[in-house]
Amino acid sequence: MNNISFKFLLIAITLLSSSALVAQHEYRLKTIVIDAGHGGKDPGTRGKTAREKDVALKIALKFGELVEKNIPDVKVVYTRKDDRYLPLDERAAIANKNKADLFICIHANANNNPAAYGTETYVMGLHKDEGNMDVAKRENSVITYDENYKERYEGFDPKDPESYILFSLTLSAYKESSLIFAQKIESQFKSRAGRHSRGVKQAGFWVLWRTAMPSVLIETGFLSNEKEEGYLKGEEGQDLIASGIYRAFKEYKTQVEAIN
Ligand SMILES: [Zn+2]
Repeated sequence: MNNISFKFLLIAITLLSSSALVAQHEYRLKTIVIDAGHGGKDPGTRGKTAREKDVALKIALKFGELVEKNIPDVKVVYTRKDDRYLPLDERAAIANKNKADLFICIHANANNNPAAYGTETYVMGLHKDEGNMDVAKRENSVITYDENYKERYEGFDPKDPESYILFSLTLSAYKESSLIFAQKIESQFKSRAGRHSRGVKQAGFWVLWRTAMPSVLIETGFLSNEKEEGYLKGEEGQDLIASGIYRAFKEYKTQVEAIN
């Protein structure tokens, strides 16, 4: 090999390897879908005066606005921006159709025990206790608002434990990323918003199961707890929750873009 062609070869190798490096670092988190739970004829859970659908929408819009304002290269898609009913399968379809990098569902919790309070962030997985299962059952039960829900959701019955076996057969490729994001949310709630974090949990949420990307479902607090209901329906509480999710998102974005 003469000197010139050797040099050419070296340059070619350098170009090849550097372009491979560029490709590796090219992952950018581009699109998120924010899903305010419930809406329209489905109010979700209720406190003394507040309804879950209203609280979820307010927080979803505030969080989305923070992303749009501060990270404009991320496209924000909302499943709903007003008080309208939207079936669960359409919410999942919106996330899939937009090829979202992250799917974030915002909800509020309820418990028969009025003393229960605090935040929980769920990822799709097997429930480890009945409490987690109860939350998933309650959130999944919204499908009964849809006509012919048994056919529409392929026989899935939100109240029947056997239906949840289906979830255990599916291994999600996105679980690790979902867990990373969920952890950041709960830690922001604790440090930033001074909330009581009940931790990151797992359960079979139909809407998370049906989406092909990292996804979380946030229970922002208990409307069945009078004090927490006041916090959740107030502007200040909603702002703190939205900014907690936003900061967790920013950290998550930086982390996954550095890894990939
Ligand atoms: Zn809900």
